[in-house]
Amino acid sequence: MSNIADISADILIVGGGIVGATLGITLSRAGLKVTLADRLAREADTAKNYDGRASAIANGSVNILKGIGVWPDLEANASPIWDIRVADGHPLRGISPLFLHYDHSDVGKSPFGYIIENRSIREALRAVASDCKTLKLVQSANVVSVQRGPFGVIAETESGIRLSASLLIAADGRGSQIRNEAGIKTRTKMYDQKSIVCNIRHERDHAGTAVELFLPGGPFAMLPMTEHRCNVVWTERIDLVDHYMALPEDRFLKELSQRFGGWLGKIDLVSQRHVYPLGMLHAERYTSQRLALVGDAAHAIHPIAGQGLNLGLRDVAALAELIVDTARVGGDVGSNNVLARYERWRRFDNFVLIAVTDSLNRLFSNDIGPLRLSRDMGLALVDKLPLVKKFLMRHAMGQVGKLPRLVRGDAL
Ligand SMILES: Cc1cc2nc3c(=O)[nH]c(=O)nc-3n(C[C@H](O)[C@H](O)[C@H](O)COP(=O)(O)OP(=O)(O)OC[C@H]3O[C@@H](n4cnc5c(N)ncnc54)[C@H](O)[C@@H]3O)c2cc1C
Repeated sequence: MSNIADISADILIVGGGIVGATLGITLSRAGLKVTLADRLAREADTAKNYDGRASAIANGSVNILKGIGVWPDLEANASPIWDIRVADGHPLRGISPLFLHYDHSDVGKSPFGYIIENRSIREALRAVASDCKTLKLVQSANVVSVQRGPFGVIAETESGIRLSASLLIAADGRGSQIRNEAGIKTRTKMYDQKSIVCNIRHERDHAGTAVELFLPGGPFAMLPMTEHRCNVVWTERIDLVDHYMALPEDRFLKELSQRFGGWLGKIDLVSQRHVYPLGMLHAERYTSQRLALVGDAAHAIHPIAGQGLNLGLRDVAALAELIVDTARVGGDVGSNNVLARYERWRRFDNFVLIAVTDSLNRLFSNDIGPLRLSRDMGLALVDKLPLVKKFLMRHAMGQVGKLPRLVRGDAL
């Protein structure tokens, strides 16, 4: 640990995806010196074929992006969600008449959240990061080794750059090498489903309605985007995905129409089709000496509720709050005290959502007659119970639990 590192900072974040970049900006805005390292080359992650997903960004996450000054760069590409409609469906039998409808006006004046393309979020984060004076973004920097000691960390990239800091934050995604090398075990499960994701343009206005249909192969979501477009997340049995991906465009569009009906009028495919394997993962610990895990490095969930990134952004807001409060009184930002408080704050919240999304997927992704009937009736029943409905809506909006200041819309 006595070598002089090439770049030194208070905090080293490995992984400059949406979670890592948001954390880097947040800490730098509060005056901390941050190194943000990502193995991808400059602009590789904003290329059209890198990520076809759009994310449902809950209100609490929007508050974070507003609080750190990223929202103005994003607003033009953000499409508000005014209503959410959930129903059972079947590619041959159509959509069930029993459904659950959420209207934003039941819980206030603002939308439930926004749909934004991941590429737009990354572009906005890059633009803001380049203006942060105490944030050093190092790209093409594949971190291959880490030494952690009682007073700090030194990491080394494949090209030999040494990065030192008081605290290392792993935001390096689901396959986190840093987590694995720290010996932190995970509870994992791969689903026998994959998600086909694409954008369609449609004739009729979606009116800001997000639709989720529970089909036998998995949930089928249509997320309202700007410019008369929807992002389709079609979760399907793993053995059928290659077949649908290989279909010529007109037959693929026919399959889509068969699933969601004709309410949007004529549709066109306006993006490539992308496929994502789906898995659940939860790290047994979020911290170790001078190390904290955030985002998918700590937890990954089924996209059925569109909450994975929102959980990661909540990790960011909580960890940043603890680090900044400690730095303001001259404390050690990588101390065991900070790390233990972070773990206590975030692990249970994430655990609950992991369990809920896993159970929802098991309950809804099948075609068992009696189960189908009871869940249809369950949806219709919840629709008639205003208090239950309100609680579920607040959860989806990220307004439940002990909320970090940024999530509440307060200053950090
Ligand atoms: C089909 C689908 C739909 C989804 N929809 C939603 C949604 O609507 N709403 C929602 O909230 N969530 C959604 N999610 C979840 C969400 O996409 C993820 O939770 C989120 O992208 C995780 O971001 P991250 O920054 O933690 O990780 P990643 O995006 O995986 O980023 C990790 C970064 O680390 C870098 N990296 C890795 N290893 C190294 C290394 N050794 N050195 C340097 N850099 C490294 C990588 O290059 C990458 O940039 C969805 C997921 C799927 C699969």
